[in-house]
Amino acid sequence: MKGDYNYAGFETRAIHAGQAPDPTTGAVSVPIYQTSTYAQEEVGKHKGYEYSRTHNPTRTALEECIASLEGGAGTYGLAFATGMAAITNVMYLARPGDRVLLSDDVYGGTFRLFARILTNYGIDYELVDLSDLEKAAGKLTKATKFVWLETPTNPWLKVIDIRQTAELAHSIGAKLIVDNTFASPYLQRPLELGADVVIHSATKYLGGHSDVVNGLLVTKDQELRDKLAFHQNATGATPGPFDCWLVLRGIKTLPIRMRAHSENGLLVAKFLQAHPKVERVLYPGLPEHPQHDLARSQMSGFGGMVSFIAKGGYEAALEIVRRTTVFTLAESLGGVESLIEHPGAMTHASLAGSPIEMHPALVRLSVGIETTADLLKDLEQALG
Ligand SMILES: *Cc1c(COP(=O)(O)O)cnc(C)c1O
Repeated sequence: MKGDYNYAGFETRAIHAGQAPDPTTGAVSVPIYQTSTYAQEEVGKHKGYEYSRTHNPTRTALEECIASLEGGAGTYGLAFATGMAAITNVMYLARPGDRVLLSDDVYGGTFRLFARILTNYGIDYELVDLSDLEKAAGKLTKATKFVWLETPTNPWLKVIDIRQTAELAHSIGAKLIVDNTFASPYLQRPLELGADVVIHSATKYLGGHSDVVNGLLVTKDQELRDKLAFHQNATGATPGPFDCWLVLRGIKTLPIRMRAHSENGLLVAKFLQAHPKVERVLYPGLPEHPQHDLARSQMSGFGGMVSFIAKGGYEAALEIVRRTTVFTLAESLGGVESLIEHPGAMTHASLAGSPIEMHPALVRLSVGIETTADLLKDLEQALG
């Protein structure tokens, strides 16, 4: 396709990378190629597309766009039906006997995949607090093939040092996998800090409008890319073209949305911090956050995810999430609309009884881009 936008700024690439005007019609918006197969002139003579599980032009545009945003030139992207499908695809790289060092507050679904499914295939994991790298180093063994982290973490908003964790993983020949869903490539680019594979649930900030479920993988390592692409086609959890189009459309406004999320996120965090019914606020943008300096050094903003511990325990937390009206009580995150949830009873309920069970009074906010005063007023009445 025409147009190498890798020289351009982030906002330009978010709109144009992989999305040159359609060569046949000039359509400025990438067409939704709703087709399962492609005509061949003669056996094996085609335009690069044979069957839509393997390749689809709308999906190619999305894969090129995310590659450009996470890593620029020489980067590869792969799209999947969901974030979990992307995560599962990474784990097809593992073999029985391999071990994974897993950050201790990874996404609940990721933990469930490791704890309930991958262990059945001889792939073991160990939960560690990766914000304490000395402790983590002691857990590495010859069998450790992957170190797996999210930063900021969900829902505790801990910040993990990507650069140092990459050095640690590479020192024993392991790969560093970073789930970059919470920050998005606008705020943080793990490949530049040494990560080997970046994962997204594009369902969240990349899609940005709570209207699509999608997953992405990004890497600069061509050998890894080839294996992941082989598994993508062989196992088949690929997204349809309309879903890819929705994510592409969302990404076009990612930079301005992330600026607005970060602005509202900080103001909500400060409001909660000053509120007598709040025990503790977790937001990496607050100077009081224990890893605020690290967050500043590896992120260009702090996003819209804010967690807090309510005074009054479980009942008080449930009452707050029941009472908000602008904040919708719902799972998921990263859309333009503000959401509120109780991780222990909702997104992270599968952790009950595990070593990473949630705090009963923990509330998680996905701060949207509505008028700030309306968000603060809503929280005020819900807390009061
Ligand atoms: C939502 C989420 C996932 C899973 O993605 P799906 O699109 O729901 O399959 C993985 N990691 C993180 C951090 C998430 O927030």
